[in-house]
Amino acid sequence: MFVSPISEVGNKERATVIIMSLEFATRCIYGNKEKFEKDLTGAISFPIYQSATFAHPELGTSTGFDYSRLQNPTREQLEKVVASLEKGIDAVAFSSGMAAITALMEIFKPGDHIITDADLYGGSIRLFNNISEKNGLTFSHIDLTSEDAEKYINENTKAIYVETPTNPMMNVIDIRKLARITKERGLLLIVDNTFLSPYFQNPLELGADIVVHSGTKFLGGHNDTLSGFVVTNLSEISEKLRFIIKTVGSGLAPFDSWLILRGIKTLPIRMEKSQENAKAIVEYLLSEPKVKKVYYPGIEGSKGYEICKSQARGFGSMITFEVESAELAKHILKETKLIPFAESLGGVETLLTYPYTQTHADVPEEVRKANGITDCVLRLSAGIEDSKDLIDDIRNAIESF
Ligand SMILES: *Cc1c(COP(=O)(O)O)cnc(C)c1O
Repeated sequence: MFVSPISEVGNKERATVIIMSLEFATRCIYGNKEKFEKDLTGAISFPIYQSATFAHPELGTSTGFDYSRLQNPTREQLEKVVASLEKGIDAVAFSSGMAAITALMEIFKPGDHIITDADLYGGSIRLFNNISEKNGLTFSHIDLTSEDAEKYINENTKAIYVETPTNPMMNVIDIRKLARITKERGLLLIVDNTFLSPYFQNPLELGADIVVHSGTKFLGGHNDTLSGFVVTNLSEISEKLRFIIKTVGSGLAPFDSWLILRGIKTLPIRMEKSQENAKAIVEYLLSEPKVKKVYYPGIEGSKGYEICKSQARGFGSMITFEVESAELAKHILKETKLIPFAESLGGVETLLTYPYTQTHADVPEEVRKANGITDCVLRLSAGIEDSKDLIDDIRNAIESF
C-alpha cells in the first residue's frame, strides 16, 4: 500500500520543528535535511530519481514510493523545501504554475463562487473565464484595493483569490484584512505569491490558507524550467490536493524538480540583488520625462507602499511603467540590445514584457482598460546583471526614439 507522506503526521511535525528553527537562507539549502542524513553515499546534491515506478518489499508494505504520478523522491524533497519556505504543512509541485492553479480549482464543485481581484496574471483570468466557468464555478472579479469584498459574498462563496503585488499593475492587497473576512465567513483565502516569493512574503503567516506559486519565476530563477506549487497549512486541503495530483497527473518531473531545488539554493541572494537593481531602474525611470508612470510598491508615498511594507520584507524586482506613446513602447522593445523582449519574469536575466499583447492578450479589452493595461505599458523583471548596463540599455533605447 502506498504510504502517503501525509499519513506520517507525527514524523512530519517533528521534522518541521527542527527545520523551522533554521533561518530562511539555510532552509533554502537544508529545507529537508533529514533526507540528506539518510543518504548512504554522502551526496551533497539531492539525487534525481528518474524512475516511474518503485518496487514493494512485499504485499502490504511500501518504501513510501509507489508510482511517480503520486510521488517521486526528488519531487518530495522539493515539496518539503518549498513547504518550509512558505511555512505550510504541505506543498504540492506541479508541471507549471497554471497546472498548479488548475489542480487547485478541482477542490471546488459546480455552483461554488470565488471572489478574485480584477488584476491577475492573464493566464489565471483565461483559466477562470474559460475552463473553471465551463465547469460550473462562478467568479466576481472586483478591485480589492478599493471595493469591499464582503459586499460580494453570497451563500455559494467559497474563496477569495488574489495576487499581491498584482501582475502586471503592481496593486498591493492587504492580506491581513482579507484574512479577517475569510476567517469570519469560513472562506478560503488563496494568495498567488509569485511576485515576491517566500523570501519577501509569507501569506500563510498573514492569515491566508493556500499559497500558489509559478515556480517558473523566482523559485527556479533561471528562465529555464516551468513549475508550479500549491502550499497550504490545512490538512483537509493537503489531502484533497494529494488526491487530485494522483488523479490528474500534472506533477513535476524528477529532473525539473531537481532544477528548481537547485534554483532555490540561491533564492535569497538573487532576490536581494534583483531588488537592488529594480530600485536603481525605478530611480532612473522616475527621472525620465518620456516615462509617464512607474508602478513599483517600493516608491515611498505610492498607493501600495505602506501595506506592502507592513506585510512583506521587501518590494521585489517587478516594475511596470507607462511611456508616452505606444510607438515609444514598441521602439524600446526593439531597440534594447541587452534586455530581451520576452514573456516571463523572476530569472537572473532582466526581461521586458508587453502585457497588452503577451501575458494579458486574452484578457477582454474592457478589463485591460479598466486595469490600466494599455499599449503604452511595459513590464520589467529585474535580473541580477549590473544595474549600470541595464539602465544604459533602457536609456539608449528611449533616447534613440
Ligand atoms: C507566470 C505566472 C503564473 C503561471 O505560471 P506558469 O509557470 O507560467 O504556468 C501564475 N501566476 C503568476 C503571478 C505568474 O506570474
